[in-house]
Amino acid sequence: MAHIIDGKVISKQIKDELKEKVAQLKTEGKEVCLAVIQVGNDPASTVYVGNKKKACEYIGIKSLAYEIPEETTEEELLGIIDKLNKDDSVHGILVQLPVPEHIDEEKIINAISPSKDVDGFHPASVGALSIGQKGFVSCTPAGVIQLLKRSNIEIAGKECVVIGRSNIVGKPMSMLLLRENGTVTICHSRTKDLKEVCKRADILVVAIGKPKMIDASYVKEGATVIDVGIHRDESGKLCGDVDFDSVEPIAGAITPVPGGVGPMTIAMLMNNCVEAGMN
Ligand code: NAD
Repeated sequence: MAHIIDGKVISKQIKDELKEKVAQLKTEGKEVCLAVIQVGNDPASTVYVGNKKKACEYIGIKSLAYEIPEETTEEELLGIIDKLNKDDSVHGILVQLPVPEHIDEEKIINAISPSKDVDGFHPASVGALSIGQKGFVSCTPAGVIQLLKRSNIEIAGKECVVIGRSNIVGKPMSMLLLRENGTVTICHSRTKDLKEVCKRADILVVAIGKPKMIDASYVKEGATVIDVGIHRDESGKLCGDVDFDSVEPIAGAITPVPGGVGPMTIAMLMNNCVEAGMN
């Protein structure tokens, strides 16, 4: 039986710590402010943006909502970002992705000032992470590190295998585990003998985007398994990239879906906002 790493409890701890910091900042006359821009009304984006607003309210961060129409041009969006970059009362800027197809996502990410890049997607933030400089870190992988640390799971010297090499999860995850002195292997769709590589892992982080792909045959007994995936199965129930029922009996620790990595992403976004507010 594995220890179940409870992302709901850990994310609540983090949010409560942030709430105290924000209250302290208020006594010093500083109000932390996040601007969230949503272009169009994709239903999934509306849910994510709503959750971010709720988290801001809970912690005491002021949130500015820019809900702008689907037809907004790239220039108009860049104009809003430019205005927010120059506004000293705004500490974090987040553009909910994906943006409509007529807008170049890369241009938008690059336009956000690195000092307000609370998503950690700007090339300057990614570069800072890779050379060990201060900068904002992508929220989901940062959340995974917090889950491990706050569950007293040692990273230093451990075999860490990350499946997935996306810019927002796999790559920053690997850099963060390396920063924590793990011995890191990155696997992807072209990896040969995926099972054999995964079986080396003391810590296995799964961010593939394929429902329940990783079963017990990929996992070393006693390993820590972190499931980043989010999907709905045939019956509409949420599930991850890991087949929980198969892996849980042999893992040492495991994150469930829902209630594992998911709640950490917003908590770490809030953490980045508070850091931005303290700069
Ligand atoms: P992505 O599709 O950008 O990347 C998937 C990666 O998996 C790719 O690098 C690919 O090389 C690798 N891959 C695909 N098939 C593979 C295979 N058969 N064997 C080995 N590697 C394979 O996905 P992403 O944005 O990194 O997200 C991964 C998962 O995490 C998705 O399910 C996504 O919904 C979820 N996600 C969750 C959160 C959260 O807050 N919990 C945040 C972001 C993403």
